[in-house]
Amino acid sequence: MELALKLAKKGDKKVRCGALVGCVIVKNNKIIGQGYYQKFGNSHAEFEAISNATESVVGATLYVTLEPCSHHGKTPPCTDLIISSGIKKVVYGIQDFNPIVNGRGIEILKKSGVEVEESTLKKECKDLNKIFFVNKVKQRPFINIKVASTLNGKIADYNNNSKWISCKESRNYVHSKMRKNCDAIMTTAKTLLMDNSRMNVRINKIHQERHCIIIDKNNTIIKQSTLNIFSRKYTNVFILTANYQQVSLPNIIIIQCSINNNKIDIKNALNILLLKYNICEILVEAGSEFISNLLEEGLVDEISYFITPDIINDCNSLSSFSLNKPCLLENRKLGEIIKIKRLGRDLLMIIKPVI
Ligand SMILES: [Zn+2]
Repeated sequence: MELALKLAKKGDKKVRCGALVGCVIVKNNKIIGQGYYQKFGNSHAEFEAISNATESVVGATLYVTLEPCSHHGKTPPCTDLIISSGIKKVVYGIQDFNPIVNGRGIEILKKSGVEVEESTLKKECKDLNKIFFVNKVKQRPFINIKVASTLNGKIADYNNNSKWISCKESRNYVHSKMRKNCDAIMTTAKTLLMDNSRMNVRINKIHQERHCIIIDKNNTIIKQSTLNIFSRKYTNVFILTANYQQVSLPNIIIIQCSINNNKIDIKNALNILLLKYNICEILVEAGSEFISNLLEEGLVDEISYFITPDIINDCNSLSSFSLNKPCLLENRKLGEIIKIKRLGRDLLMIIKPVI
């Protein structure tokens, strides 16, 4: 299964909006076939491994990082292929939570007399496809929010100055790992008007564009044509607003949202961004009010929290989160640290909110 995981990762970036899957076939303690899902629409990992097998797979054990599919998609179901090939046993990494599979693959194999077992590397197999699972189960992009704060949780001083709280290494990490790997960067009109960010990827003075998504309830930024985000050529600026106006500017896409509790309700827009524009993963870089709203709406999948060991002390300076509802210790929002990384003098915690 470790080898299957390694193979699955080779499909990274090319698979987009599909699952990363690796597969290894073993017979008489020897690896006889390997494969992975290379590109969206290509043949599945199981098909690749079975077709590449160096000898007959009859009686062999097949290791696959994700439950084999049982539906007709772009290719026929892998369960049919496994059964007809004479494979004796299937060890799968994690059940496919995608509602069109969701245990059916395992059931079909068992009914046909194939021995089925869950791998001990379930957690690794789940992490590998965390974006895919959110896309399929929640029907929206995976949302990662980035926060940089001082030791006492401040994200700016009372002059609203936040440049720079985190160290150079942290900022490089944001560009080279986070912005580079996401499909779109999301912020609010308020933040954008304050810092006129280019919302792109800058590594060694080379600039790469990223789609950007602006939350703009009243649709005001459209009039600010000198903003840096409007100078892009290859990517889109999505404006999520409650005040729809037709625009004929290239690269600008306006998505109408409803209002809920005086705030813009972006759930439907997120669904459109995934299904119509293939935005599978969003990095949010915005102020505490917006990210707290996302958290309270259950729309956050991961928080990348950079802490610098410094203190700026002023009761008027902004905190990293400001929840709307009063929240005492007994009903605090829970989080689970899934990874820790040291970057220069900062600490990065990757946190999964417990919903
Ligand atoms: Zn399949």
